[in-house]
Amino acid sequence: MAWEAVIGLEIHVQLATKTKIFSGASTAFGAAPNTQACAVDLGLPGVLPVLNAEAVNMAIKFGLGIDAEINKINAFERKNYFYPDLPKGYQTTQLERPIVGAGHVDIMLDDGSSKSVRIHHAHLEEDAGKSLHEDFQGMSGIDLNRAGTPLIEIVTEPDMSNAKEAVAFAKKLHSIVTTLGICDGEMSQGSMRFDVNVSVRPKGESKLGTRTETKNLNSFRFMERAINKEIERQIDLIEDGGTVIQETRLYNGDTDEARSMRSKEEANDYRYFPCPDLLPVVIEDSLLDKLRGEMPEMPDAKKARFIRDLGLGEYDAEILSGDQTTAAYFEATAKTSGDAKLAANWVMGELSKSLNQNEIAISNSPVTAEMLGGLILRIKDNTISGKIAKQVFEALWNGEGKDADEVIEKKGLKQVTDTGAIETMIDEVLAANAQQVDNYRAAPVEKRGKMIGFFVGQCMKASKGKANPGMVNQILKKKLEG
Ligand code: ADP
Ligand code: MG
Repeated sequence: MAWEAVIGLEIHVQLATKTKIFSGASTAFGAAPNTQACAVDLGLPGVLPVLNAEAVNMAIKFGLGIDAEINKINAFERKNYFYPDLPKGYQTTQLERPIVGAGHVDIMLDDGSSKSVRIHHAHLEEDAGKSLHEDFQGMSGIDLNRAGTPLIEIVTEPDMSNAKEAVAFAKKLHSIVTTLGICDGEMSQGSMRFDVNVSVRPKGESKLGTRTETKNLNSFRFMERAINKEIERQIDLIEDGGTVIQETRLYNGDTDEARSMRSKEEANDYRYFPCPDLLPVVIEDSLLDKLRGEMPEMPDAKKARFIRDLGLGEYDAEILSGDQTTAAYFEATAKTSGDAKLAANWVMGELSKSLNQNEIAISNSPVTAEMLGGLILRIKDNTISGKIAKQVFEALWNGEGKDADEVIEKKGLKQVTDTGAIETMIDEVLAANAQQVDNYRAAPVEKRGKMIGFFVGQCMKASKGKANPGMVNQILKKKLEG
């Protein structure tokens, strides 16, 4: 039987505010354990929370960024449960009236078509502390620094049908929140955490199957693996006559193992009730207008502009608009070089290859956008060939010069375009390969096109790659035919 998977995501995004959602304690990452949780974050008796206006602004910006309805009156609830990293005994969150209503995030699929993933809603809430199960000899450590860090939890409709789509969605969401500047996007620090809901059903069936939820995936790669593994597990289970039970699961990316954590809890298990300490949030039109005015160019708009104004293809535009820093780097390179297409090729080619190999972020690239733009200028004005340009790039990467011109000068890489010099070189190559010249002249015309490659290669070698290839080709042909 053919099966199809159904996937919906819930994503926790840490908002990049300086202080907590209900207190003035710092949200900075990496502080010594338990130095950044204050009495409000711990919910000690007698404290009163004060809502951080910046967290509200950021949530609204997210809503505007995904074309969502903003609920101008929204409110906080208490979700009650006990856990050592939640000393308050409840999480302050939103249930009935979330700040952001329905919206959508569009993704590009492998075949180049696009798909709209519906967002059900996004709500504001506080993060809990962290339980640390290693390094404490059979005990657990509790670090409450994270308690009270502002989050938006984004809930999608079950609109994705395979792991690749889910990852494309996750990457797009990452791009949206970092472009908005509402999250630092540091997944390894837990700034974005994905819960994946997965079910399967016979292909063509319209009713949804029973789903499981795998929690807290914090890398795209782990997410893809965890989803594929779960789809496979469910199909095997059903085909063996079993049934999927609704449960919460854990996936360990280091060992590639998944296990059941607990059976699924219901909303009523949590005894939600309106938070008596916080007034409903009322959003004025003036605030909405102000925030609208502060919105940056969103990735989709940027992509459209790259296609429309810079002449990029769909795929290149998608890649280059996806990440803010990459987009800015590309635009600066295109501007310096005056050639958007070459700039796109170099950013997505040599540059990204070198960045990946050395695991360096584009923001720390030793070759700046200005340097790359300057290099491209020298290809365009025929100072160097594309091949030599790779050598120059490598030298720039290794810090062997402040710009392309200096490297070209120092290493003597200037392209030879002097007809006389090229002719002399060709004469030498032909003299040294008299037999091949005879073979060429004896060969039928349709075979010569291929045979000339040998001579071009010899000439380029003799010039250490510096001869202008177009001129070499042209002069060679004339001499061989003549
Ligand atoms: P609950 O109220 O139990 O939390 P929701 O309806 O809020 O459930 O859904 C939570 C998440 O699970 C959403 O992202 C939703 O898209 C997804 N989801 C719901 N049902 C399914 C299903 N059958 N298969 C896959 N994902 C699902
Ligand atoms: Mg839910």
